[in-house]
Amino acid sequence: MERYNLVVVGAGSGGLVVAAGGAGLGARVALVEKDRMGGDCLNTGCVPSKALLRAARAARDAREAGRFGIRGVGDPGPQEARAVMDYIRSCQARIAPHDSAERFEGLGVDVVRGAARLKSAHEVEAGGRILWGRHLVLATGSRARVPEVPGLEEAGYWTNQSVFSVEALPDSLLVMGGGPIGVELGQAFARLGSKVTIVSSSAHVLPREDIDAAAALAARLRGEGIEILDGSRAKKVERKGGRKFVTIESDSVGSRELAAEEILVATGRHPNVEGLNLDGVGIVHGSKGVRVDARCRTSVPSIWAIGDLAGPYLFTHWAGYQARVVVRNTLFPGTVKCDFANVPWTTFTDPEVAHVGWTEAAAREKNLPHRVFKVPFEDNDRAVCDGSFEGNFAKVIAGKKGEILGATIVHPHADDLLAELVLARKAGLRLSSLSDTIHTYPTLSEINRALGDAYNKTRLTPGLKRIFEKIFEWRR
Ligand SMILES: Cc1cc2nc3c(=O)[nH]c(=O)nc-3n(C[C@H](O)[C@H](O)[C@H](O)COP(=O)(O)OP(=O)(O)OC[C@H]3O[C@@H](n4cnc5c(N)ncnc54)[C@H](O)[C@@H]3O)c2cc1C
Repeated sequence: MERYNLVVVGAGSGGLVVAAGGAGLGARVALVEKDRMGGDCLNTGCVPSKALLRAARAARDAREAGRFGIRGVGDPGPQEARAVMDYIRSCQARIAPHDSAERFEGLGVDVVRGAARLKSAHEVEAGGRILWGRHLVLATGSRARVPEVPGLEEAGYWTNQSVFSVEALPDSLLVMGGGPIGVELGQAFARLGSKVTIVSSSAHVLPREDIDAAAALAARLRGEGIEILDGSRAKKVERKGGRKFVTIESDSVGSRELAAEEILVATGRHPNVEGLNLDGVGIVHGSKGVRVDARCRTSVPSIWAIGDLAGPYLFTHWAGYQARVVVRNTLFPGTVKCDFANVPWTTFTDPEVAHVGWTEAAAREKNLPHRVFKVPFEDNDRAVCDGSFEGNFAKVIAGKKGEILGATIVHPHADDLLAELVLARKAGLRLSSLSDTIHTYPTLSEINRALGDAYNKTRLTPGLKRIFEKIFEWRR
């Protein structure tokens, strides 16, 4: 039997980082993968969705060129899905070597092909071999959760598994789900030329986000011709001729039938727990995946779980972060815990919605003493020149002394702009530090200084201002 320091199951965002990190430190590592190296992120998640959004933005830019005084460019009309999918594949091909078996073997990792099954607290069976690990790390990810809607299976639907290899652009697309995946893909297909309807069971799209941010995005999506049905659920699907008819029940308008050429299901994720024999070795798990403590340890001390399989955040950067925590906890003495407070995320629509920490609603609900500072991009000169100011804003939920409890930015470059606020929050800096920091002019990042300025203005109370006035009068 082969003995390893680490046996990693799943070569996606989490597993690859554990394997590279462990091997880089000199540990003996086996990495088991049953499908494509790179997991969801490279093959059916982040990379293809961001490439699709980029292609869709090109179509949008062409349509909007006249706004900037550019003549000779106009609405390009519905796009050829195959050509766009080729662009997506070219992006994946550029990134794939980084996640490839060859690269990992070059790093000294033993890459094993096959589905892994736990045999004991230290043994994994895969590819006809038994791999013994001092520690086992499970990183098997998640897949689309498909709702039980009568007729859906028979009618057929797309998920993130199939949507990036479609042959033709549908004239109409019904997206089930108003979360990040639903709105990103919905906007992309609308911009490429499909008539898109988003059916969202929650009161508004992006239910986890700040309500103003979700409303700003919804307004933008509607402005681009996307129909959004909030508080609505698909009840039945029928296929008639070449079309799919979906009966929707909605809080506001009751029952309604919608016709679409295709349906995209984006109603959440299901952890990949099947086939691992979790119960056989005593690993506690539930509907949200494998239960882990703050150190990423499962109920079996030698077995760890990370990424979408463990949550609570389903992001590549969270999986990678947990991977580093696990490398630290398995290969060195002592243990570290995950930092759950400073986890940023972005929905990569146009505008993007980027967030960290508390939302205003959550702070209110928890009775957290807080103040809200919201600055619009209307006053940011760069955003004005870029034509990216309308409806966009940055908002910070601050504590009594100006500490950053949470932040949300809505802007086409929100993800990059948020990084400064994430660092400030993690370092315990106050909003006044943003005001004191020199930001290059004219940049979008000046929005963060503007947040600091907005906070500083509130420090100047009427009483303090009167004292200043007296002093200045005396010094004249
Ligand atoms: C459409 C879409 C867009 C997304 N966009 C973003 C984004 O922009 N930013 C972001 O941060 N996140 C994004 N995500 C989420 C991100 O893709 C996941 O959070 C991330 O891939 C999770 O990493 P993981 O290591 O847990 O799982 P994965 O990366 O999915 O890796 C799991 C691997 O385990 C393998 N496996 C499963 N079972 C077994 C077994 N029994 N034996 C061996 N191998 C097994 C699988 O084949 C897979 O390769 C997106 C997801 C989707 C669906």
